[in-house]
Amino acid sequence: MDALYHSTRSADATVTSKQAILAGIASDGGLYVSDALTDTHINIDELNGAGYHAIARKVLSALLGDYTNDEIADCVAAAYNTNFSSAEVTPVSPLGDDWLLELFHGPTCAFKDVALQMLPRLMSVARTTEGGSNKVMIVTATSGDTGKAALAGFADVAGTGVTVFFPAGKVSDIQRLQMVTQVGANVAVAGIEGTFDDAQTQVKRIFADTALNDRLAKTGVVLSSANSINVGRLVPQVAYYFSAYAQLVAKAAITPGEAVSYVVPTGNFGDVLAGYYAKQMGLPVAKLIVASNSNKVLTDFLTTGTYDRRREFVKTISPSMDILVSSNLERLLYYASDGDVELVGDLMTKLSTTGVYTLPRSVMDRIRTSFDCGFASDQDTRDAIATTWRDTGVLIDPHTAVAKHVMDTMERDTFPRICLATASPYKFCADVLFALGKDTSGMDGFACMEALSTLTNTTAPEQLAALSGARELHNDVVSQQEMAAFVTDACARVFA
Ligand SMILES: *Cc1c(COP(=O)(O)O)cnc(C)c1O
Repeated sequence: MDALYHSTRSADATVTSKQAILAGIASDGGLYVSDALTDTHINIDELNGAGYHAIARKVLSALLGDYTNDEIADCVAAAYNTNFSSAEVTPVSPLGDDWLLELFHGPTCAFKDVALQMLPRLMSVARTTEGGSNKVMIVTATSGDTGKAALAGFADVAGTGVTVFFPAGKVSDIQRLQMVTQVGANVAVAGIEGTFDDAQTQVKRIFADTALNDRLAKTGVVLSSANSINVGRLVPQVAYYFSAYAQLVAKAAITPGEAVSYVVPTGNFGDVLAGYYAKQMGLPVAKLIVASNSNKVLTDFLTTGTYDRRREFVKTISPSMDILVSSNLERLLYYASDGDVELVGDLMTKLSTTGVYTLPRSVMDRIRTSFDCGFASDQDTRDAIATTWRDTGVLIDPHTAVAKHVMDTMERDTFPRICLATASPYKFCADVLFALGKDTSGMDGFACMEALSTLTNTTAPEQLAALSGARELHNDVVSQQEMAAFVTDACARVFA
């Protein structure tokens, strides 16, 4: 089936999945969705004994109908290769009476690798067959992890450049080093004065800036997005929900058809939305539990029905979730309202003009049948890291700990629960070490890394340990007004 995509804000113009992946975002500012989602069914009995590659091929083929089976198979084989340090790609391990879905075994040690090792390959195939421009500049705002995963995915990919903006001073030491040490002739990295939301807003503005895009078009350059608003990032994430389920069946921890709940540390709502896609496609999901940090817009939204971003931004120890505008929620609004594009457009206008909107009761009730929620303060997060280590011997990062806290404070129902582990604890050594009761004052990221390793008798991932000798290559910090010019300069340099 050729799943056609259109904007969440208008169903008039349809595109293929290849075109949607090349464009990133629809021209009216909406996100690409497919009405075929609920018709795409994956038979879980067929996943019996299937490895990650087979599952990923099935999921991608179902959602990206205009890619041939060979194209999908090549992309899967190349993306989930030895660059993941686990043969299962995303292994499931025990976590007390629950399960941990380890999504951090990719090249940059965060779950974003699962999608960002795939996206450049999907784009390259689409460019070849759709005749797209061979000068594509990927422009990405990052709260910390997307940036490095995008750099790793797109570095030295022919015909492509990648520009990353991160909120200066609001990412961990190791996260910053991962980005500013990135080598490659086609990369540009800058800190910005502001928050992730500011960076994301400006990037969306850059995509919508007709004059800028026209100027670039004259030099043959088109802009595209690697943020989780891109269909090509969302779809690969659906696979690990199925894979986790298949792994539990293989361990005889569940029987095929039995419903399970997933607890998801959430920021931009991409990861948990992939779980919703999996559910729509037939995965037996009891609840998707949206776990937030102190920037708990989503907890409040799911509790009250009102999305209100008019609040103080809180800098937390789970920085990749320090987000007040969760872009991918727009896709859920589309599906939960039965494709009411007018309603979605209206709500999004309200959000950008007044900062607040309220959902109709019927739509909210529908969302609540699939989603539950909770949040963790920084202290809750530290406590969860400490107690998890003490009680289970599993070392978790602060983002995963947010989910663990939410899971532990919820009333336990009968469903098996899978907690998504989104980053290696070694990306956040200082905060993890502190949570385990150590004084970290005066210690840099690497001193903390060593101390954490000694204390827990675990080993830092090689690619993070190697940062200690790497040269810092990108030290620009720009204002929000300067971001567009930074992109223009990067295009000129990369495509000179
Ligand atoms: C990006 C990220 C999240 C949030 O995922 P979303 O898809 O933005 O909701 C959670 N944890 C880590 C470590 C991340 O990098």
